[in-house]
Amino acid sequence: MNIFLKSWRKLLALAGDGTPVVVSARERRHRFCHCASKGINNCSCDRYFSQPDCDMGWDSSRDCYYHGYDLYMLVASDSDSDLPVFPLLNPASMHDSHGFLHTFFRMRNFLPDFNVTKVLLDSAHDAMPYYKYFRRKRITPFIDLNEKRGIKTKYKDDFTIGKDGIPVLSHLNNHDDYKSSDK
Ligand SMILES: [Zn+2]
Repeated sequence: MNIFLKSWRKLLALAGDGTPVVVSARERRHRFCHCASKGINNCSCDRYFSQPDCDMGWDSSRDCYYHGYDLYMLVASDSDSDLPVFPLLNPASMHDSHGFLHTFFRMRNFLPDFNVTKVLLDSAHDAMPYYKYFRRKRITPFIDLNEKRGIKTKYKDDFTIGKDGIPVLSHLNNHDDYKSSDK
């Protein structure tokens, strides 16, 4: 581990994303009024929330709402097995673009001598302030473009991804040549 810490102080490529953490099927809240004993079940008195840092969020991969946290995880993308660098539990309602900010700047405070040189993020983070910040800090961003934002043409469209996940340049249309030259 010490080897990793030493190298991260020089160069660290971070990947970040949020993942749903379900804590209960519904919100944990309790009455502390006596309306129910008087037969009033739908009162609007204050409730006691036993887990106030959780809330409801949208799980986009399962297409459903859930109650809990959004676990935002920063990992070392250039390590052998994506070693975790800094995790943070945010409320489930927090969008990943905000989850990154909370996690990243807290990480910088806890680990001030890590020198982040690259970040890899998905299209939820495709926003101009990100690019401006990273340019100012000399961090190279790799961010999926968000096609919902009306981007018609791809910035770079000279390669496709083969079935094995290896990029194939369009002017090298024989994928087998690439493979055989690799052996
Ligand atoms: Zn009440």
